[in-house]
Amino acid sequence: MDCIFCKLANKEIPTKVVYEDEYVFAFNDMEPQAPVHILFIPKDHVASNNEVEDDLIVGRIFAAIRKVAKDKGFDQDGYRVVNNCGKDGGQTVNHLHFHLMAGREMTWPAG
Ligand code: 5GP
Ligand code: ZN
Repeated sequence: MDCIFCKLANKEIPTKVVYEDEYVFAFNDMEPQAPVHILFIPKDHVASNNEVEDDLIVGRIFAAIRKVAKDKGFDQDGYRVVNNCGKDGGQTVNHLHFHLMAGREMTWPAG
């Protein structure tokens, strides 16, 4: 399948690995919107939140986010996690991903 995030997860396209386990892969967003901007994806292709079949993956991703936040030391200052789903959600890459943003105060509401 021609999916850029699958290619990053299976190392067809080399990238700096921020986090990896059996199920989850994380790498820096190429257009960071905050000092820290990391994308967390399932290694198996899932198009969006609408296509999740095993909800365990979402928990695994949030556990990975929690670990990275603690390891990088911004867990106490805080962070934002975003999932864009579908057209109105602003999803541009059709492989489920969660944005982890940190390192500055976020604004609300998001645009
Ligand atoms: P979405 O709008 O789908 O929620 O977010 C897609 C994100 O993926 C964007 O923030 C975009 O900058 C990032 N992105 C798209 N293609 C690539 C890529 O090839 N490498 C990396 N590192 N990030 C990408
Ligand atoms: Zn994919």
